[in-house]
Amino acid sequence: MRTSIIGYPRIGGNRELKFSIENYFKGNISARELLVTAKQLRSARFEKQKKSAIDFIPVGDFSLYDGALDTAVTLGVIPKRYRDLTLDGLDAYFAMAKGYQGAAGDVKALSMRKWFNTNYHYIVPEIEDDTVIAFRGSALFDEFSEAKDAGIIAKPVLMGPLTFLKLAKYENKQASDFVKQITIAYAEIIARLESLGAEWAQFDEPILVTDLTTSDISMFKRIYSDLLKRKGNVKVLLQTFFGDIRDAYEDVIALPFDGVGLDFVEGKETLSLVERYGFPSDKTLFAGVINGKNIWRDDYAKTLNLLNAVGRKADNIVISTSCSLLHVPYTVSVESKLPENAKNAFAFAEEKLTELAELSKLADDSDYAASEVFKANQARRQSIKQGADLSVQARVHGLKAGDYTRSPERKKRFDIQKSVLNLPLLPTTTIGSFPQTDEVRANRAKFRKGEITKERYDERLQALTADVVKLQEEIGLDALVHGEFERNDMVEYFGENLNGFLFTQSAWVQSYGTRCVKPPIIFSDISRRAPITVKISKYAQSVASKPMKGMLTGPITILNWSFPREDVSDKEQATQIALAIRDEALDLESAGIRIIQIDEAALREKLPLRKADWRSEYLEWAIPAFRLTHSGVKPETQIHTHMCYSEFQDIIHEIDAMDADVITFEASRSSLAILTAIKESGFETAVGPGVYDIHSARVPSEDEIVAAIKAILEIVPAEKAWINPDCGLKTRGATETALSLKNLVAAAKRVRSGKI
Ligand code: GLN
Ligand code: ZN
Repeated sequence: MRTSIIGYPRIGGNRELKFSIENYFKGNISARELLVTAKQLRSARFEKQKKSAIDFIPVGDFSLYDGALDTAVTLGVIPKRYRDLTLDGLDAYFAMAKGYQGAAGDVKALSMRKWFNTNYHYIVPEIEDDTVIAFRGSALFDEFSEAKDAGIIAKPVLMGPLTFLKLAKYENKQASDFVKQITIAYAEIIARLESLGAEWAQFDEPILVTDLTTSDISMFKRIYSDLLKRKGNVKVLLQTFFGDIRDAYEDVIALPFDGVGLDFVEGKETLSLVERYGFPSDKTLFAGVINGKNIWRDDYAKTLNLLNAVGRKADNIVISTSCSLLHVPYTVSVESKLPENAKNAFAFAEEKLTELAELSKLADDSDYAASEVFKANQARRQSIKQGADLSVQARVHGLKAGDYTRSPERKKRFDIQKSVLNLPLLPTTTIGSFPQTDEVRANRAKFRKGEITKERYDERLQALTADVVKLQEEIGLDALVHGEFERNDMVEYFGENLNGFLFTQSAWVQSYGTRCVKPPIIFSDISRRAPITVKISKYAQSVASKPMKGMLTGPITILNWSFPREDVSDKEQATQIALAIRDEALDLESAGIRIIQIDEAALREKLPLRKADWRSEYLEWAIPAFRLTHSGVKPETQIHTHMCYSEFQDIIHEIDAMDADVITFEASRSSLAILTAIKESGFETAVGPGVYDIHSARVPSEDEIVAAIKAILEIVPAEKAWINPDCGLKTRGATETALSLKNLVAAAKRVRSGKI
């Protein structure tokens, strides 16, 4: 069997591309130097893939910033405000990616959105009413030739036309208005590829795994029935991933594609679709069987069984990854600090190439069970000890329905808390973090490198905390925070303080453009070693005259921003984390903290792609896990939660069912849709919709904030409204933060006194 990958990481094993791009922005290196680095990275990728004997090696999956942006450029989808800058080459490209401020003009970047159910973010193409979609040339062809020079006839990869049209933003027109133009443009791309000697072209159409309407399907058929007539001698591979294509499968196999890529890992129904409707013998099935998102070694016995089942229905099979390997780090081999036991359990991108190569041989071997490679894989998997913690497991399994419910009910708690906390009407607060100044970072860095003792570190941390408490008191905020100066990242910090997590040195994954994240790995049962935040919160409260908020990260966010285990369910892992956070909340309460905020910044982003699965596969356990974190606290302890977005109108009842007393969320950049939903759903949780945008250095005026508060009060009763910024302030400068918060407090006071 031959092997294929859908795409490969591109940022560089040591994040060379990131640093090179950043250096280019700073003016430290020239465009040429940046392009040389990019070329070296591509050639290293070719070498790795060639060495692993991958048969279908992709080109076009590389990008200097983002694949959706590259596709937009290829199709001439460049909004007028960027064309008007009349910049050249790379600068024109990066203006769309990052915004531009300089001699040529002043424009913001195109917006960014989460790429399906991953933590990657793509640049959203903007199609204006007078946009003409047409083929404008592409770096793809140079990359194809580059591969050819390396002795590879590569498989060019491009975002497919349907996915492109569906993900784009429009003015008055809509996707269907551009079907003709885009089809012609793709036909020209294929023709050019043919002239260069390409045998295959891969069109990525992940949109096919989402809920499709009949008009989406008819658009799909229109585009491809036309395009496939013009494909000449190039074979077209329709590549899907992140799920199954149940809404389109029959139409897909009826069209004259030469290859169809299906995801057998995340696609729950993929195998049954193939079994039910068959797979035409004149097509090649690119079977996505190696998980492109996880970091665990494959179980060959399981995968070979699956391939066997697929083989009963399909004659021509190519073994593939389930999605692009963009979503996993480069290689385990450089991790020198992981325990050997764990290292053996992991496969990142490079190791997955080896797995594909090994599987392709085993799949052709009628007696594979006798082969050394197969035996080694099975032995290796069996040798992994993931460290069961029986007391944690017993605690999870001993949970009763009542453990998830806080009493008394929220309405009663509201009155109790009101009298105990003694907060004014429209209380003001912040989301938790304060600017991470050089001093704040230096203190952590010195301690990490062993340059200062724990005592010295704590002393400094307390001094910094005391300063930020004093600042908040001077500004006149009502519910204070300690500033989070001990945290580098809201998930990593808790992971490092919990049993069960592992940390890598270089396992970076691209999140967008030049930004990478290094997610913790959940390896075994999770428990809290000792109180985590109690000392600093208690200290902060001791130097404050107003209530201090304890600050915790919620279980769903910790889980979603980590690489999870696969030997136990997500529900089990979330529940274990929830119990650890619950212990922390109870300890904070005993230490005299009267408000506890449990952030769930990433709750919404793991909603399954198909709406029908939202509740049964996710919310049904995610919401209870959150409830478990706070159901043990006293009625007078006020529980807050925070979300960095406001598009939760579709799950508004579930958000209310988290049973927090207060929720703060991003609102300044979004429409009032969420406030309307809050009103219409009879939302019980008190709300703090952000009154200014923290993503910009701009200082909002008092008048602006008064206007934002008034807009909130049109919909939310004053006794249930909080006044706060959109999100944490850690990325902001100290000066603008103080000025903004002063205006926020002044605005709240003005509204309270009725002088508006
Ligand atoms: N408490 C965190 C902070 O203020 C919340 C961050 C977030 O929502 N992403 O930084
Ligand atoms: Zn936030």
